[in-house]
Amino acid sequence: MSWGDDRNGQGPMKSSPQAQIQPCRYKTGKTLGAGSYSVVKECVHIDTGRYYAAKVINKRLMAGREHMVRNEIAVLKRVSMGHRNILTLVDYFETMNNLYLVTDLALGGELFDRICRKGSYYESDAADLMRATLSAVAYLHDHGIVHRDLKPENLLFRTPEDNADLLIADFGLSRIMDEEQFHVLTTTCGTPGYMAPEIFMKTGHGKPVDIWAIGVISYFLLCGYTPFDRDSNLEEMQAILAADFSFEPIEHWRGVSETARSFIRRCLTVDPSKRMTAQEALSHPWISGDARQTDTDLLPVVKKNFNARRTLHAAIDTIRAINQLRAGQGAAMMDGALSKDPTPAAKVPMPQEEEVNAEEAVMDSRGNARGQTEEMIREQERRIRETQVGLWGRTGGGT
Ligand code: ADP
Ligand code: MG
Repeated sequence: MSWGDDRNGQGPMKSSPQAQIQPCRYKTGKTLGAGSYSVVKECVHIDTGRYYAAKVINKRLMAGREHMVRNEIAVLKRVSMGHRNILTLVDYFETMNNLYLVTDLALGGELFDRICRKGSYYESDAADLMRATLSAVAYLHDHGIVHRDLKPENLLFRTPEDNADLLIADFGLSRIMDEEQFHVLTTTCGTPGYMAPEIFMKTGHGKPVDIWAIGVISYFLLCGYTPFDRDSNLEEMQAILAADFSFEPIEHWRGVSETARSFIRRCLTVDPSKRMTAQEALSHPWISGDARQTDTDLLPVVKKNFNARRTLHAAIDTIRAINQLRAGQGAAMMDGALSKDPTPAAKVPMPQEEEVNAEEAVMDSRGNARGQTEEMIREQERRIRETQVGLWGRTGGGT
């Protein structure tokens, strides 16, 4: 399985498939976002002048979990061209310290930031967004893929335009299911607030976990807080296990129809076998548009609730981060998702990378160092070290 096999001649991937080592064809620019183990930067292809996003993953931060990245690449390779609501993988390569996933640039920002910037926002808008998400999820499920990490910050808009496509991004936790032998997946994953009961029960989690997450996201999109938000992770987990949620306080739910509530209940059903499938969810009246939705502007309530919790969670995260730094766990801090709050403001910021002169780095477009002489490798290592000193505030591995 090499990169060249399944290319279909689009974009920069076409460039010299037989070349094993080549100068990097991308220049990186401003930072677009940060996840728990990566920084995403704008980048431009030197030859074509086209803009993309490059997810830069420091290998040292990934230590022992390289499989997550390889998995993300494998999943994106399989599905990224096939659905308009799935982020397209354009290229992939690595340097000594970093892995780079080049994808389409999503210029429209994260789902919730965009909603907050709108002038008004109705139940039908939320339903439209969930319809797009569900159609991509149904596509993934039809291809035997469970996303497993659906949450608002992994949903991005392609452009700033009003009618822009919503894209599912971040396939780091996705699993391609081996239909034959591996129905039961038991690794713990995801962000607590969006995790389905069967994940905690360790009874395996397949496609239904994505529908649960769709239910949590829908709830969140209609009121600005998540259904199982509790003071501690333990309480949150207990609430999830019992599907202990309600549409309360009622003043926040007055503008939301019974159809929307029924949709959420059918997603947040504890027994995965009784939960809706993606196809069933697509034909639920709230999504298919067959039922009446309210015409209340939800934005004031959603925004107010969202901002209140963002401030709270940001404060909690800051305190946790400080405590962990004090305990000398700076690196460990980056490992897990600290925040249940889907806002960039609440994320613990990654140390900023010094500008890497991408042209300087010599790399293998297929992601390894075949065909190099010892001397070439040493020289490459030296140049990469030189250009990447200061990355993540340290020089990073490379011995
Ligand atoms: P992680 O796996 O570390 O969570 P993500 O793939 O979710 O990384 O990316 C982290 C953030 O970077 C996203 O939440 C988003 O804000 C931004 N981002 C990711 N991909 C793109 C893209 N293609 N275009 C624009 N911004 C992006
Ligand atoms: Mg993410």
